[in-house]
This record gives sequence, structure tokens and C-alpha cells, in this order.
Amino acid sequence: MALVIAKELSKYYGHDEETQVHALEGVSFEIEQGEYIAVMGPSGSGKSTLLAILGAMSPPSLGSLTVDEIDVYGLSQEKRADFRREYLGFVFQQLQLIPYLTALENVMLPLVITDHRDKKELAEQTLDRVGLGNKLNRLPSEMSGGEQSRVAIARAVVNNPPVLLADEPVGSLDSKTGREVLELFKKLHCEGQTIIMVTHNPESIRDADRIIQLRDGKIVDDVKTKVGESAALRL
Ligand code: ADP
Ligand code: MG
Repeated sequence: MALVIAKELSKYYGHDEETQVHALEGVSFEIEQGEYIAVMGPSGSGKSTLLAILGAMSPPSLGSLTVDEIDVYGLSQEKRADFRREYLGFVFQQLQLIPYLTALENVMLPLVITDHRDKKELAEQTLDRVGLGNKLNRLPSEMSGGEQSRVAIARAVVNNPPVLLADEPVGSLDSKTGREVLELFKKLHCEGQTIIMVTHNPESIRDADRIIQLRDGKIVDDVKTKVGESAALRL
């Protein structure tokens, strides 16, 4: 069974039918464990709305979301918060690092409410994985934009979540730094991480296994790039 199953997801903002915005309209897809998916589309096409639904943060108006056979929006609010902590990692364009906490403390945050035994050790290992093993005690203000992104990514994956969600994670970075951060996503993908990333960046599109294109709240294209590539190589 697929890791993520989105069935006929629709999202309408506003109650008044006249002025209601149909941000998503009957979106369906399945995502297998280990896929790297780039979600693309013009501004206003519903990308962030879709990510919020996938992130268990915003119930769809219609449709269902199943992750690891769990009906996400069938869960109570409290159970859904537990689900989010256990299953999902998030990287936003605004990194939302806590400015007065060090890199290590920022990465330890998601572990505070878990019963992990060696929180500090796990956070250190994760910062090491993203190449910041020597900057554990820096504050965000003492790090470059790329390093801050790495801290945010480390914080997102420290719990080892089955799904990593990212909304334009390199949108505000210069191209060289953006490339380095995308290399890190690629590395995580190679290590088996399932990634769903909203992006306009040609490089992440190249790294992705699959591209889902949204327009006016609908999927207009859903192509597996890597399958195509290997099929082409076999010919
Ligand atoms: P994207 O991320 O692709 O730019 P969004 O998902 O943010 O698109 O928005 C899709 C549509 O829904 C847009 O028309 C946007 O204006 C509208 N929208 C998004 N969030 C809200 C909201 N909270 N209230 C009303 N309309 C919204
Ligand atoms: Mg958006």
C-alpha cells in the first residue's frame, strides 16, 4: 500500500458561496515510500494549500488523506498533533528558527516532548549529518543563510519522520547556497527519505523522481521523471 494516499482533496476558503475560493479541486495521487516529489505551479495554484493538508495542519473541505494506512483527518485534534510529530518533518521558506537558541538547542526542540533517551546525542548526530557538527553552539545570527537552512532541515528530520515536507526551501537563498541546500535534500533522499517539496528551482526539479503540476487547484500533470530516464537509457 502506498505511503500517502490523497483522495479527491478539495479545499474551499470562505463560507459564502458567492465569494468562496476553490483553492484545491478534487486532487488525487499516491506517493510511495522513498519518492522525491516536486510540486510546481503558478502563484495561487494551490501548492501551499496542498502542503498544509498533507502536513495535517488544515482539514480538506472534501476528500481524504491516508498516511501509512492512517486516516489523518479522521483523527481527533490531539491524535493528529501526535501524528504530525511522529510522521512529518517541515521546512518552510521562513525557517522559524528560535533566535536565542543555539543550533543544537533548535534541533533538540522537537525531541523535548518525546521520550527519546539521548536527545542531545541524537541532535548532535543530525547536525553532523547536515554538515554542521562543528557549529553546534552557534546562534542562528552567527550562521550564514545556508547554514541556517541546514539547521532547519536537521530540526525537521531529527525525529526520523517518514515524510519530509518543504515549501520553497531555497526560495530566499542565492543560487550557490540554494544548490548546497538542495544537495542536502538529495542526500536525504538517497538515504531513503520521502520528500514532498514545493519548488520553482530547476535543480530540485532535476533531482526529484516525480513532478506534480498544479493549476487553478487541479493537477494538470503528474510525471515520473526518473522512470522515464531509466526507460530511455534502456532503449
Ligand atoms: P500557492 O501556494 O500555489 O501560491 P495557495 O495554496 O497559497 O497557492 O493559494 C491558493 C488559492 O487559495 C489562492 O487563490 C489564494 O488566494 C487562496 N487562499 C489561500 N489561503 C487562503 C485563506 N486562508 N483564505 C482565503 N483564501 C486563501
Ligand atoms: Mg505558496
